[in-house]
Amino acid sequence: MDGCVIFTHEDCLLHDTGEGHPEQIARLDVILRALRKPQFQDLNWQPAPKAEITHLSYAHTPEYIKAVLQSAPEAGFRTLDADTVISPQSIEAALRSTGAVVTAVDSVLTGKATTAFCAVRPPGHHARKNSAMGFCIFGNVAIGGWHAIKAHDLKRVAIVDFDVHHGNGTAEMVDGHTEFLFASTHQHPFYPHTGDTSKTDKAGNIINVPLQAGDGSLAFRDSFENKILPALDAFEPELIMISAGFDAHKDDPLANINLAEEDYFWVTRELKKLAEKHCQGRIVSSLEGGYNLRALAASAAAHVNALKDA
Ligand SMILES: [Zn+2]
Repeated sequence: MDGCVIFTHEDCLLHDTGEGHPEQIARLDVILRALRKPQFQDLNWQPAPKAEITHLSYAHTPEYIKAVLQSAPEAGFRTLDADTVISPQSIEAALRSTGAVVTAVDSVLTGKATTAFCAVRPPGHHARKNSAMGFCIFGNVAIGGWHAIKAHDLKRVAIVDFDVHHGNGTAEMVDGHTEFLFASTHQHPFYPHTGDTSKTDKAGNIINVPLQAGDGSLAFRDSFENKILPALDAFEPELIMISAGFDAHKDDPLANINLAEEDYFWVTRELKKLAEKHCQGRIVSSLEGGYNLRALAASAAAHVNALKDA
């Protein structure tokens, strides 16, 4: 068994979103540089294969899949929604991002790895069943979760989303399916304007824990200690997946929550303890947001540091 595996692909560095776009190539570049430092020499690096149509079909409509696969411009840029810009290599990058998560699920469920971090972009948690949204093209983590259920016959998959934005796309893809427990902390009210606790989900399998602008470590850790971790413990997951967005960091330019790198280490270690209790330590994490390059690299490094240590 190989400890922690990093799945990534150079195609993810070719997804150009244009000058000034926050979801930029440099985000992944700084993370890869951070993870190549000596303290991470025991990481096992694997190339991400492309996702197959079967995988995309777990969570997206055939019409959307067909349209997206034909959407890349031959040159220049095109938009899939108001915020989601694509260029010639973007769909390849999106397929690698989803493929990374699907393959990471295969790796941890067949004992080739204990934990995995998918250092990929575009992110996925805002992508809807039938549309791109908020820098996201395919629902990477939700698709990985469905793959665990459909291809590996798992009965209970937990998805934890600590990105500062609500994972509305993931929630839509698992709502009503009790094989999933989806738990999210997010700034609210805020983009994408979902994730309010007053809206009840179909099957009680979605736990939204909104944070208020200005909240920091205390409120974040309280949300986990009192709501999310007890719910996960009761759910007894066979696999824990993480939508690892680092835009709740205090230096992030897009949001107003005040976390530090240490909070990402802490939450990852807490999730790891639960994974060790219920599912042989199996965690698959994938990059979502995070837009201050220094904070993003340090936070992702703290996250992987907690994932890799036994
Ligand atoms: Zn975000």
